[in-house]
Amino acid sequence: MKNIDWGNLGFGYMKTDFNIRCEFNNSTWGELEVHESEYLNLHMAATSLHYGQESFEGLKAFRGKDGKIRIFRMKDNALRMQDSSEGTMMAKVPVEIFEEAVLKAVKLNERFVPPYESGASLYIRPLLIGSGPQVGVKPATEYLFVVFVTPVGPYFKGGFQTTPFVIMREYDRSAPLGMGKYKVGGNYAASLVAGQKAHELGYSAVFYLDAKEKKYIDECGAANFFGIKDNTYITPKSSSILPSITNKSLMVLAEELGLKVERRAIPVEELATFEEAGACGTAAVISPIERIDDYDEKKSYIFSNDGKPGPFCDKLYHKLRGIQYGDEPDTHGWVTVIE
Ligand SMILES: *Cc1c(COP(=O)(O)O)cnc(C)c1O
Repeated sequence: MKNIDWGNLGFGYMKTDFNIRCEFNNSTWGELEVHESEYLNLHMAATSLHYGQESFEGLKAFRGKDGKIRIFRMKDNALRMQDSSEGTMMAKVPVEIFEEAVLKAVKLNERFVPPYESGASLYIRPLLIGSGPQVGVKPATEYLFVVFVTPVGPYFKGGFQTTPFVIMREYDRSAPLGMGKYKVGGNYAASLVAGQKAHELGYSAVFYLDAKEKKYIDECGAANFFGIKDNTYITPKSSSILPSITNKSLMVLAEELGLKVERRAIPVEELATFEEAGACGTAAVISPIERIDDYDEKKSYIFSNDGKPGPFCDKLYHKLRGIQYGDEPDTHGWVTVIE
């Protein structure tokens, strides 16, 4: 095998040795299968291809200083995938099958788990699709669950840094009574045009407002938002945002740091009052926000003047990464250690 340049990995797909699959047929889940092929042999009338019956997850495994591999909050991802199944009428992957498949995918591809010093990690992508044929609009009777892994580099190559975001009212990611709260591919398809435009304008991602009134903060691209002011961590409560496991973890750590935690509707004007702001998710843990430009109203909300993250973003980021890599004690039972 050619040597992997661990220090220069990006966030892209790299072939690994094995992927794990499990099929749902005749109303039951089969045995886990180990595959070497990167390809699926799929019926052309599969509901995932026509009617969007698909959901996915994203989690990571980290190699610690002690050489052990740690997987972060795997059960939470399993439960969230079950919610996505409810939202799309797909068969639910039992938690035990989900966890067993993830563990197997990581262990069999252990040589792709980056070394501690690189700051890189192994990204784990569970995927559930309607695989059975259907032409009328109804759920499939067969499903395929796949777990593959790929090594990914540290999100912040040049150190932990802030970036700008943009509010653009001409696009919505998800509707209040729609699919935003589920981790499904359709939400991502719905965000591509806006995301591309934001990138062309020099922003990291689109900062979405609620689709109905355009008054409240929803999500930052495919990440949750939080703001910090008056010793309080504030994150939106909305029916159209995806419940981020990173955000859930940061709320616990924020309380431990002595911050109050509020989950409530946040009017867009309130951005002017935050001392710090960040986007959070598995990919980066926290992407601290430099500023948010309101493209339509020609206004800017500035959180950092020197490109540096604020003190609470910094503390929360290092604390959570510390737990993930095993440098900090796992007092909440978030980590599964592979012995
Ligand atoms: C996956 C995802 C997130 C982040 O969730 P984590 O569990 O923290 O990785 C946030 N928003 C959207 C839309 C997502 O799909």
